[in-house]
Amino acid sequence: TRPAKHRETSFGARDFGAFQDCFFRDRPMDTARIAVVGAGVVGLSTAVCISKLVPRCSVTVISDKFTPDTTSDVAAGMLIPHTYPDTPIHKQKQWFRETFNHLFAIANSAEAGDAGVHLVSGWQIFQSTPTEEVPFWADVVLGFRKMTEAELKKFPQHVFGQAFTTLKCECPAYLPWLQKRIKGSGGWILTRRIEDLWELHPSFDVVVNCSGLGSRELAGDSKIFPVRGQVLQVQAPWVEHFIRDGSGLTYIYPGTSHVTLGGTRQKGDWNLSPDAENSREILSRCCALEPSLHRACNIREKVGLRPYRPGLRLQTELLARDGQRLPVVHHYGHGSGGISVHWGTALEAARLVSECVHALRTPAPKSKL
Ligand SMILES: Cc1cc2nc3c(=O)[nH]c(=O)nc-3n(C[C@H](O)[C@H](O)[C@H](O)COP(=O)(O)OP(=O)(O)OC[C@H]3O[C@@H](n4cnc5c(N)ncnc54)[C@H](O)[C@@H]3O)c2cc1C
Repeated sequence: TRPAKHRETSFGARDFGAFQDCFFRDRPMDTARIAVVGAGVVGLSTAVCISKLVPRCSVTVISDKFTPDTTSDVAAGMLIPHTYPDTPIHKQKQWFRETFNHLFAIANSAEAGDAGVHLVSGWQIFQSTPTEEVPFWADVVLGFRKMTEAELKKFPQHVFGQAFTTLKCECPAYLPWLQKRIKGSGGWILTRRIEDLWELHPSFDVVVNCSGLGSRELAGDSKIFPVRGQVLQVQAPWVEHFIRDGSGLTYIYPGTSHVTLGGTRQKGDWNLSPDAENSREILSRCCALEPSLHRACNIREKVGLRPYRPGLRLQTELLARDGQRLPVVHHYGHGSGGISVHWGTALEAARLVSECVHALRTPAPKSKL
């Protein structure tokens, strides 16, 4: 029997044929079947953007892990961009602006609570004046200004600071909210680990690779590596402003259910277990910035591996085997700032998918659609 629509499905290792029979049996002939591999913030937002932008398509998200077990779930989700050295700044600014505008609209809607998106104000502080006193994203966030001498008195070890209001996007709420949108627009969610992207041929016409660190193997990409991040989630409801040391190593981010204290940046470290020494250091650094945190309670430790790459990969590749072809749009490598740019990069990935679908639909001697 045909499974009920909108049901989450787990298929065995070689069952894409069965999946195809069940779900695509009645599709119009020119429906493009698109698989998105990965269910972190990048995969799910890409699936939503494809459903909105690509006409006559069916979208299936395939992943071995879902919320709350992805790297995206560990992130505090502050919208403060990190710089990708190999990506032009105007591109990074465009991605950040598109993401900010998208989330700002959600924060101002009745959906804000369900989606886990809200505004938060605070300070980024520096122990020496940075070369760039006004960063490239200053006119995207709200009310950006230099901190006054009086404000800086709160941070006696720091000589310069920036005050602004930004957004916080909490993935343990945002990812289920995105999943609901995917299912609501007729998409499918499958639990499965992919060993080789070619497994998805010929069941799908276009594959989008949003597997983050998994791309080391799936795309054979040695440029991507983990940057380990450990954080503490604590109860300290009196902390209402974010505080971020300009080095990015120490931060205090208040959220809806806890305050996130960070952090660590350990390159090439794959260890997902919390380290007690890391936790002691984080707490001590954060207490130095905000002494009231000495009274924080219910401390929980979390670890995530940032999918770091010098430049994010947003690119189409045509896989070919035995005369058969499979277009793959790669969309991964968001490193330390994926939440901050995810919607902008997802829109760009959806445009690449649209081009692939258009090429498949264009009459040509070997076109299949
Ligand atoms: C401690 C910490 C704090 C952070 N704080 C912030 C912040 O405040 N602001 C910000 O902008 N960013 C922050 N980040 C960065 C942010 O979390 C990442 O950039 C972002 O989550 C990357 O999203 P992703 O979807 O690419 O990866 P992931 O969330 O890792 O998702 C990858 C998905 O691919 C799936 N997958 C992988 N391999 C396979 C396979 N072979 N088969 C099937 N599925 C596969 C996984 O199961 C998963 O679902 C932080 C990160 C950490 C660790």
